[in-house]
Amino acid sequence: MSVFAETPRAPRDPILGLTEQFVADPRTEKVNLGVGVYQDANGKVPILDCVRTVDAQLAAGGKPYGYLPIDGLPAYDAAVKELVFGAADHDRIAVVQSLGGTGALKVAADFLKQTTPDATVLISAPSWENHRAIFARAGLTVAEYPYYDAEHRRVDVDSMINTLRAAAPGSVVVLHACCHNPTGYDLTADDWQRVVDAVAERGLVPLLDMAYQGFAQSLTEDGAAVRRFVDAGLVTLVTTSFSKTFSLYGERIGALGVVCADADEAGRVLSQLKIIVRTTYSNPPTHGAAIVASVLTDPALRTQWESELAGMRDRIKQMRSALVDGLAAAGVTGQDHITRQNGMFSYSGLSKDQMITLRDDHAVYGLDSGRLCVAAINPGNLDRVISAIAAVAG
Ligand code: PMP
Repeated sequence: MSVFAETPRAPRDPILGLTEQFVADPRTEKVNLGVGVYQDANGKVPILDCVRTVDAQLAAGGKPYGYLPIDGLPAYDAAVKELVFGAADHDRIAVVQSLGGTGALKVAADFLKQTTPDATVLISAPSWENHRAIFARAGLTVAEYPYYDAEHRRVDVDSMINTLRAAAPGSVVVLHACCHNPTGYDLTADDWQRVVDAVAERGLVPLLDMAYQGFAQSLTEDGAAVRRFVDAGLVTLVTTSFSKTFSLYGERIGALGVVCADADEAGRVLSQLKIIVRTTYSNPPTHGAAIVASVLTDPALRTQWESELAGMRDRIKQMRSALVDGLAAAGVTGQDHITRQNGMFSYSGLSKDQMITLRDDHAVYGLDSGRLCVAAINPGNLDRVISAIAAVAG
């Protein structure tokens, strides 16, 4: 008998399972607003012009595909420090290149399990599904802090702060730096200050997950939360990703940054992160890091990237407004929350039953939670999305 004869079948990933269902759906008018991938006005995943330029340069340069250092391409790590941490003292920050934002979270989770094995990890209710799974699999206890207020369609910041103030000192708090996934509701500047104060007073460990820097307002404004924690003198972990902001999903390019008390501590932390990387995948891939480092360090390409990033951000905002206006014209009023949200996602406020009807009767696919990917709406499918939502919400 096989040693794996008793291996149970794991449940399908809910989002990828939905995509399989979408692909198998024969209806030609179908629209996939399930998965979190930005698409352009023609429904295509874009290749940014700055990326095309660097790709061509790299191909012409004919560099061999040798191994990178364990912690990644040095020019990339330096560029990440500049982009994510700005003027902060870079010697205090340990950075490793990672396999996307997910890989950064995994390295962070293993490091936290090693250094603070009994800490509880607090994630927002709700949060990106993988947060719970990654920290639980690393052996840490995961609990939630209140976040989404369904009744008022906003963040319940008072309840959030109360929970943080009651958390055990040393607990890790996972925060979405901007463009909260799945709800789209972000904290205001005042809210962030209250969170920083609560984290500092209670002795909590902040981990800012920043998968969408530049998708809400601007690179600087979206990165403000990170700088708030660093400026408050707090030891802070930051996981970042270029999957969305460079449209480099499959290149798996992100980073983990750990802001430490001083340079000596940062050196020791980096040495531990490198052991985790070495024993997990040895060293990271070359291509995505080379692209991002080249774009971020070349002034002309950097300007081009910032304008392409703004283009993606503005297109999402246009679709949000068009959705609200279109729904109002179809008789579904009071949807202004859609334009108050940031990033790729919208918690539509639709119930699970409504989401199922949207899928079954109208071929518009979103998550059962009511989450819709606004970044997949375009002028070609907008009217179908509006009439489908109007039919189920009416
Ligand atoms: N964190 C959050 C909040 C996300 O939404 C995502 C992407 N869905 C990630 C991390 C991971 O991004 P990546 O694809 O770069 O692993």
